[in-house]
Amino acid sequence: MIYCVEDERNIRELLVYTLETTGFHAKGLTDGNELWEALKKEIPELILLDIMLPGEDGYRILEKLKSASATRDVPVIMVTAKEAEYDKVRGLEGGADDYITKPFGMMEFVARVKAVLRRCGQKSSEDKMLGCGEISVFVKKHEVRCRGIKVELTRKEFELLQYLLENKGIVLTRNQILCRIWGYDFDGETRTVDVHVRTLRQKLGEEGNLIETVRGVGYRIGG
Ligand code: CA
Repeated sequence: MIYCVEDERNIRELLVYTLETTGFHAKGLTDGNELWEALKKEIPELILLDIMLPGEDGYRILEKLKSASATRDVPVIMVTAKEAEYDKVRGLEGGADDYITKPFGMMEFVARVKAVLRRCGQKSSEDKMLGCGEISVFVKKHEVRCRGIKVELTRKEFELLQYLLENKGIVLTRNQILCRIWGYDFDGETRTVDVHVRTLRQKLGEEGNLIETVRGVGYRIGG
């Protein structure tokens, strides 16, 4: 998934169209507010970020993306106006991976996107990262960070969090969780799940609230 944050409708639609016809999934967003909403649901592989936007501008958005652990490693390509040479420097210093100057050709645009994904893919394939809000889980390293700070979890708590994040936005029943984490399915033991959810929430602090109890059903993260 690639997010295209651009307030000019024609450009936004063209970007999304071009990416989709090249085989990517892309979503057009008009401003920072829409981006923050979209990020709650899905962390994309790449963000294209226009600089001149209503509300928060591209620099401010970039700064926020780079300071949140869930989005810090998402590559960003800044989209700049032609004459603004200074923009590029500021964007790259702010942590952007590349920039594209308007107006640009679609071939060049796709080539830039692919190049950045290739470069950053090498980094990200080292360890799959799952996240929600300020929670980041590095699966291979078995590491959990909350607002950038490492959180120590037991093996079961880690697996539980991983399972919830892999199914972000979806309600998992206690039985599903039992089957997956403990390897059995027995109604009488569903309390085990509740106990682990409780300790997991405590360890995650404020972000623990992201794990929602769905009454009579089970649990969900990022709903
Ligand atoms: Ca704009």
